[in-house]
Amino acid sequence: SLPDIGDKVEFESKPGAKGPRANNIRITAKLPKSVRNHNQTDDRINCPSCKKKIVPRMITYKGEPDKSVCPYCAATVSTFGNSFSFYITVIAVIAFIVMIW
Ligand SMILES: [Zn+2]
Repeated sequence: SLPDIGDKVEFESKPGAKGPRANNIRITAKLPKSVRNHNQTDDRINCPSCKKKIVPRMITYKGEPDKSVCPYCAATVSTFGNSFSFYITVIAVIAFIVMIW
């Protein structure tokens, strides 16, 4: 098998046409798969709807991130800007109360 990232290898250094080259490469220690997967940058999550391993697709609205959706079933994974629209609503209500006073 070919060595993977994180594996320990031994080899003999042999002179080659373009300088020393590794010869007789042997894998002496395989990195455990759990460690390997942990080290990889993996932004995949489980879709709350279809349970597939997905990379959420970002949906923007007027240039602002609005929500991220599952690329398979289009379920909303997470929403952004909810607190912002909440504040706008609160400010609008306060402005209305001030106006009628
Ligand atoms: Zn899904």
